[in-house]
Amino acid sequence: MKKQNISGYTRLVGFFASPARHSISPKMHNLAFDHLGIDAVYLAFDIEENDFETAIQSISSLNMLGANVSMPYKQTALTLMDELSDSAKLIGAINTIVYKEGKLIGHNTDGIGFIASLKENKVTYIGKTITVLGAGGAAIAMICQAALDGVKKIHVFNRKNERYLQFYKKIPEIVERTGCQVILHDLEDDGLLNGCILESDILVNATSIGMVENRSPIYNEAVFHPNLIVYDAIYEPKETKLLQQAKIKGCLTINGLGMLIYQGAAAFELWTQKKMPVELIKEKIMNEKEGK
Ligand code: NDP
Repeated sequence: MKKQNISGYTRLVGFFASPARHSISPKMHNLAFDHLGIDAVYLAFDIEENDFETAIQSISSLNMLGANVSMPYKQTALTLMDELSDSAKLIGAINTIVYKEGKLIGHNTDGIGFIASLKENKVTYIGKTITVLGAGGAAIAMICQAALDGVKKIHVFNRKNERYLQFYKKIPEIVERTGCQVILHDLEDDGLLNGCILESDILVNATSIGMVENRSPIYNEAVFHPNLIVYDAIYEPKETKLLQQAKIKGCLTINGLGMLIYQGAAAFELWTQKKMPVELIKEKIMNEKEGK
């Protein structure tokens, strides 16, 4: 690391989360800063709950370019902003903060990353029907951005619990703001799940099923019709059980690495007004993961 390039003018971007140290964001943004000769550094900070408000205040007091926030602070951070982007308002959580002209502006780039990775894979989504498994933070960002960007109908499946009720209450706002039809179902209703996937163009897994245990959220492999695109928000492992099943049936499969990189690229552009060198970053990150 070329620390000799850091000067009194170097600007800081922070990553505020708990835990924060595992994140690939510092690697991604510092590579991009270096490549483009931008005088900034990106550092991760593990923030205790009681210190979170102070961490947000430090963005202005230290004249930082901005910050990323992640679990468990994406919703709390939204309440501490001076302004919010339209999608952040709809999603109800932020992952990116821009400090501009004395104001903290909150954005959510997770859904933007999802749509950008669909575009990268030449997937058409405007006017299409999607089935999303899960109604957590990633799912809501993906659903809201897809609805804002022209998806016609979204079937959402979650287990019937508190999260299910929370999302149920959110549906009227999404429908009113976007005109997209959003329908919530019980993840345990297999028959309904199969029917909805069969009428869908894209199936998205936004649950954590498949991240740790080698298991798929889909039991009935007959749902993998040849025109179905199967998207898993999970990026580690690179190919989940769900993606393996779908690939065997001839579906186009996409993992969450593109979403991860493009959410970072969108944040990077908000801070610097410059395009992140996405191909270079992908290559370096993949090489590193594969130990090359
Ligand atoms: P949340 O904790 O907010 O949501 C988790 C979701 O998974 C909920 O809908 C939860 O449903 C569901 N779930 C978990 N376990 C089970 C289970 N055993 N059976 C059924 N449903 C289950 O997490 P996030 O939304 O932040 O993350 C979800 C996934 O998306 C993770 O795997 C994460 O790695 C990935 N992700 C990827 C990103 C990317 O950039 N590619 C960005 C963010 C997340 P329930 O209410 O029933 O528990």
